[in-house]
Amino acid sequence: MNPLYNHLDKYGSIIEQVVKQANQRMQTLLANYTVVNGRLVLSEENVAYTMDLVDRLYSTLNEAGYGRFAEKYRNDFMNIYKEFNAAKTQTYNFNFLPKDKAVLQAISTANYEGLFRVEREVANTIQRLATDYVLTERPIADLANELREQLEGRLQRYAKTHVETSTRQAIQKGQDLVLDNEGIEPKDRYYEYVGPLDGITREECVEAVTQRYFTEEERLDFESEYGVRYNCRHVFQYIPKAVYYKVGKK
Ligand SMILES: [Zn+2]
Repeated sequence: MNPLYNHLDKYGSIIEQVVKQANQRMQTLLANYTVVNGRLVLSEENVAYTMDLVDRLYSTLNEAGYGRFAEKYRNDFMNIYKEFNAAKTQTYNFNFLPKDKAVLQAISTANYEGLFRVEREVANTIQRLATDYVLTERPIADLANELREQLEGRLQRYAKTHVETSTRQAIQKGQDLVLDNEGIEPKDRYYEYVGPLDGITREECVEAVTQRYFTEEERLDFESEYGVRYNCRHVFQYIPKAVYYKVGKK
C-alpha cells in the first residue's frame, strides 16, 4: 500500500473527528444568544456577541483539535518522504542536500498555513451568516443548521482537499528536487504513475495508472492538461531509464 495513501486516510479520519467535536462545541456557543419565540433578537448584546464570534470560533475549533492536527501534519512532513522512500527503495531515494532544507521548510510551512486559511474562511463565513441572522431576526434553529453545514460541508471538505492536494504536491516536489540535485536531465527522466485505483479515482488518473509509464514529455502534457488535480492521490514516481525500457515502453 502506498504510504501517501495511508497518511491521507489517517488525516481524513482525524479531520472528521475534529469537525464532529467542533460542531458539538459550536452549537453551545449559540446558547448565548437572546432568543424570543425561536428567533434571534436584534439587540445590542446579540450584535456584540456576533462581533466576537469569529474569535470564539477559532478557539472552539482549536479546542476541538484543529490546531493540534495542523501541528501534527507539519511534524509528519519529513516522515511522509521517508516512508514514501522506504516503499520505493529499488527505484528512488530522497537524498536531500543541505541547501534543500529551506525549500522543504517552506513547503511544510505553506501546507500548515493552508489549514488555517481554510479555518479562517469558514469562520468568517459563519460570522457573516450570524450577523445576517441577528440583523433580520431569523430563527436560531436555521442558524444552527447553517453552522453544521459550514463545518461538515465546507471545513471538512476543504481541509481534506487541502491536505490531499498539498501532500501529493510536496511528495512530487521533493522528488523533482532530488532529480535536479542528481543532475538527471529532463530527457532522461521516466516515471511510473503510482497511487490507488478505487471507486473515487478520477477518470484521468484511471487512464494514467493504466498507461503506468511516462516520459518527461508525457508527464508535462498530462500536468498541463489537468492542472492542480485537487484531491489527487497520485504521484509521478521517477524510474531510471533502464527500468523504463525493461518494463515500460520500447
Ligand atoms: Zn489522481
